[in-house]
Amino acid sequence: MAQSSPACLRCQDTRVYVRAGTGTRYAQAQLCDCAPNPCPTCRGTGFLLTLDPQGRDLAILCPDCERLKQRIEFYNRCRIPRRYQHSRLALADQDSENAKVFSLLESMLRGLPHQIRPDSEQERPSADVLKGMVLMGSPGTGKTHLLTGFAYRATIELGISCVFQGFTELLSELRQGYSDGKSDIEIIEPHLQTDVLIIDDLGKGRNTAWELSILDTLITERYNHHRLIMATTNYTEREEDTLRERVLSRDRTETEQYLADTLRKRVGERIYSRLREMCYFQSLQGTDRRLAPPEAEGFVESAD
Ligand SMILES: [Zn+2]
Ligand SMILES: [Zn+2]
Repeated sequence: MAQSSPACLRCQDTRVYVRAGTGTRYAQAQLCDCAPNPCPTCRGTGFLLTLDPQGRDLAILCPDCERLKQRIEFYNRCRIPRRYQHSRLALADQDSENAKVFSLLESMLRGLPHQIRPDSEQERPSADVLKGMVLMGSPGTGKTHLLTGFAYRATIELGISCVFQGFTELLSELRQGYSDGKSDIEIIEPHLQTDVLIIDDLGKGRNTAWELSILDTLITERYNHHRLIMATTNYTEREEDTLRERVLSRDRTETEQYLADTLRKRVGERIYSRLREMCYFQSLQGTDRRLAPPEAEGFVESAD
């Protein structure tokens, strides 16, 4: 990312402009007005003419146009909630409390292209598999802001596919899917195939056997294929640190329950130990950034 004085302030010279139109649920990426038009490589045709090995004319897709198109598509398929449209994992987001998390995320971004598109054909040793991150901490500590920024950098800067998914939203989509006659696998396939899966609010929900089985499928499948997983969670590793979360029951006659489980208790031993193997566990402390003065737009609107 161009960190110093980009020529285009709208897109920071990425040629991709991210915005959230009124009434849209997710941030949308589109080609920035600063992108040369028509494309100088293909003169706007979208194709380049070349010769095949037999010397015959061959039209191939313009690599420059395709590259931008793919990045825009990756960002849009990632489904970043509109309130995180400004998340960039930029230097301005870094402070003394998140410095360690920041440098780990930066090193993952450096390692990702090699893990996903290794230079050599050789199988990489499993010990070398890039670890993801479980980011723990109370609401408002900026967890989601950092990981949506990570998703921006992975998709727009590196051209790596990414899915950002709130866990409870996934459960609602699955329930909706059942009534539309869709199977679990149809809905979670993109989550299994994507290069990077980010689960927002891991451990949230009613924690039924069905909910845990969905989580188990996601984690186990990605674990088996050495695919990167990242997550945010309000649960931590010690009960003392975990914010007591109000668990809303569907049955309104039930008394309200408050939970202060550890993440381990919340997701169960099997999922927890896989996550431990696949991810760095980091926690963010600090004051609720949503209460901070409105200087960093991304934080103020955050509700992670
Ligand atoms: Zn621009
Ligand atoms: Zn082109």
